[in-house]
Parts: sequence; structure tokens; C-alpha cells
Amino acid sequence: MQSRSIDPYLNSSFECSCGRTHKSLFAHYIFEPEAIRKLPDLLKRLGYTRPYLISDTHTHEIAGIKAEEVLQRAEIRFTSHVLQSPENGDIAADEYALGSIAMANDKEADIIISIGTGTINDLGRYFSYITGRPFLLIATAPSMDGLVSGVAPLIFHNMKITFPAQEPLALICDPEIMAAAPLKMLAAGAADILGKYNCLLDWKLSHIVNNEYYCDTIAGIMRRAVDQTMESTKGLASHDKEAVSVLTEALVLSGIAMDFSENSRPASGAEHHQSHYWEMQFLFDGIPAVLHGTKVGIGTVLMLELYNALAEMEKPDFDRIRGEISCRPSLEEWEKEMRRCYRDGAEGIIELEKKSGKNEPEGLLKRLSVIEEKWDEIRSLAQTAPKASEIYQVLEKMGAAKIPADVGIPRQYVYDSIRYGKELRDRYTILQLMWDIGELDKAAEKLVEKYCDENE
Ligand SMILES: [Zn+2]
Ligand SMILES: [Zn+2]
Repeated sequence: MQSRSIDPYLNSSFECSCGRTHKSLFAHYIFEPEAIRKLPDLLKRLGYTRPYLISDTHTHEIAGIKAEEVLQRAEIRFTSHVLQSPENGDIAADEYALGSIAMANDKEADIIISIGTGTINDLGRYFSYITGRPFLLIATAPSMDGLVSGVAPLIFHNMKITFPAQEPLALICDPEIMAAAPLKMLAAGAADILGKYNCLLDWKLSHIVNNEYYCDTIAGIMRRAVDQTMESTKGLASHDKEAVSVLTEALVLSGIAMDFSENSRPASGAEHHQSHYWEMQFLFDGIPAVLHGTKVGIGTVLMLELYNALAEMEKPDFDRIRGEISCRPSLEEWEKEMRRCYRDGAEGIIELEKKSGKNEPEGLLKRLSVIEEKWDEIRSLAQTAPKASEIYQVLEKMGAAKIPADVGIPRQYVYDSIRYGKELRDRYTILQLMWDIGELDKAAEKLVEKYCDENE
């Protein structure tokens, strides 16, 4: 575990050639055998004396009991709350789980410690934010890129909403525990990282089309982490600790990259919008959630197909595109589609469009002239995208889900997520570009033809 690529970025601040000063306060990354034993020392060093531990039935068994023993031995007072995991499946990060954590709260505790990676991490991070206490994470699996993050996606009134949250001041990972996580979780973590191939392209694309802020240094840090993860995917299939170490670093780095850019641009693009869209549909339908990274992996294959298509595309006839703008669906028709697709969440989507105006003719015309002028640059960018088939094969070798049907996402949801996933955020991606040039609906048809069964 030598020469960690992450070390230069811990608790770092530097003036960048992009003109900004990048800062991340995340300082303590402990990834070593028996890492949990370091907890009492670390708490002492940081000046905390009374932790409130949050875990669920699974993570308590995996790492919570150990943490309790270590604290007891060091004579550190603590409160431990174990949320009861349902028999089949996982706890949802919703108002009920949060209520349970609040009711078991130790008012005197001076630090919140989550033991777990997904739900428990999100809940603890948010609870520590609303109660104004620092947060520490003991991770149990490298399954998603929110290990170090200042936001928490939580479910409130059956809607997934991103809330501000406390970034952890330390992350403790025992390689033994992390590597023993089910392959499904390791593959989900890797897929979440492979998604960065797409989101980094989206970021650059927006820079070209909208002159959005873009930083080569941050993108480069992320790109290296993704390349290294790509190389280590073989090791993940055999639960190799070195491969898990590379993956965990990449997951942490994506949090640090977001600190640097002060938004989620380096870590989330159209592939994440696909994942969010499907997740919302599953919530509406009451279907148990699929791991975040698993869906991101599937979304990445689809979105890279769009880049691959763009790489081959002849320069469109922009006069024709401009001439056909008036034939596009009206605002009323669009709103009707939003109500059909986003159901209870439609109002928020319609509201967002009112604010961002991303589909209004005025902005569209402006973008079209930039796209026309910079067509060669855009196409060259698309030519740097990995082939969708390459990512598909990597996912397949890890035994991960690669197509929507692998996790039960029906054809209609895929068709809708490609056409309307972009409405979830005001963020320029390949989806908006395809819409701009009037190619999105055709592309959606082609993709479902290729990746979805007709009878679904
Ligand atoms: Zn920079
Ligand atoms: Zn993610």
C-alpha cells in the first residue's frame, strides 16, 4: 500500500493554472490492515471524546462490533445505534431511518461516526450536518463515489432529494473488510468510476458549447484515477486487495475533485442522470432499489454510444435544424410528457425548466451557432471517448450488469430516460447536445433497439 496517488490531495490547497484556488479539507485517509484499531488514537488526536455510532444490522456485524470493542478498550464513552435491516434488501435513506437516528441520538456526543457505505453514510452525514457536529466514516465496501462528499441524496416523500451534508473529516477502511464485500458491490463502485469517462467528456463539451468553467488539472486527476481503476478491474473479480485499494482511492478522489471544482461536474454527467431517472421510476413503482454504481455502469454504456455516434457523424445541416425548430413539441406537450415521466416529481422538473430555460428557442439558437462553428472540435472530443463496447466488456468481465434488463429496467424507462433524463438538472451533457441538433429522439430509438428487448 505504498505510493498512494491520493496523498498529494489530502488537506490540500493550491493555485491552479485555471485561475482558481482549489481546496479540499478532507485530511485523514486511513486504508490499512486493522484500520479500525486506529479509531481511538485518531479521535484523541482530533480532540473528540464521545462518538455516536450509526450502523445497520449488516455493517454492525462487519465493522461495528469491532469499533465498539476498540472504543471500550480505550475507555471512550459512546452511543451505538443499529438500524434494523429488512430481511431481504437494505434500509432506505429516508425520513423514517433519519427519525430513528434522531430518537436514539446522544445529545452529548461530539462526533458522529457512520459505519457503512451507502445508506448509513448518507444518513450519518446528513444527521451530523443538521446537528452541527463533525462526521467520520468507517467504510465497509467501495461501492459508490460518495465516500467523501458534502451532499447526501435522501428520500423524502418518495422523492430523491440531494441535501447539504457534512463531509467526513476522516475515512477509515480496513482492506480486509473492503475486499470481502460482495462482488456486486465492488463492481458497482468500479462502474461508478467508469462513468467518469462520460462525465468528463460532458464537462468539456459544456465548456466548448457554453463556455462553462472547466479545469484541465481536475479533469486530469480524475482521468488518471479512472484509467487506474480500469486496469484493476480484473483484480476486483478475485477480491484482490491491491485492486480494491486502487478503486477506493478513485472513489475518494472523485469526492476531492468535487471539492476542488465546488460542484459535482467532475463526477456526474448524463450517465448519472440515467441512473437517477431509473431510480425515481423504481421509487414510484415501489420496486427495491438497485445499487447506484450498477445503474451508472449501464448508463455509461448508453451515453458512450451517443459519443461514439457523434464521433462518426457528418456535419449536420444547421440551416435545416434552425428551420425545424418551430416543428418541435410545444411547451404544453413537453409539460404533458414531464407529468407522464416524472409523475409526482413533475412540478420540480417544470419549475427547473422555467428557471434554466434550457429548451427555449433563444438559447438553442445561440448554442446552435456555437456548435456549428466548433463542430470539428466537438467531433474530435467525441473521438477521444472510449468505445461503449469496451466498457460493456469490462462490466461483463466483472460480472456486473451491462444492459437495462440485467437489473429489470424496462424498455419504456430507457427510452424515456434518454429523451428526458436531461430535464433532471440544468447541466449540459451529450443528451442536451443531441437534442440541440435534433438527433435525440432518433438516437433513443436506436439505443433501445440495440440494448432492450422488444417485449419488455
Ligand atoms: Zn484548476
Ligand atoms: Zn456516482
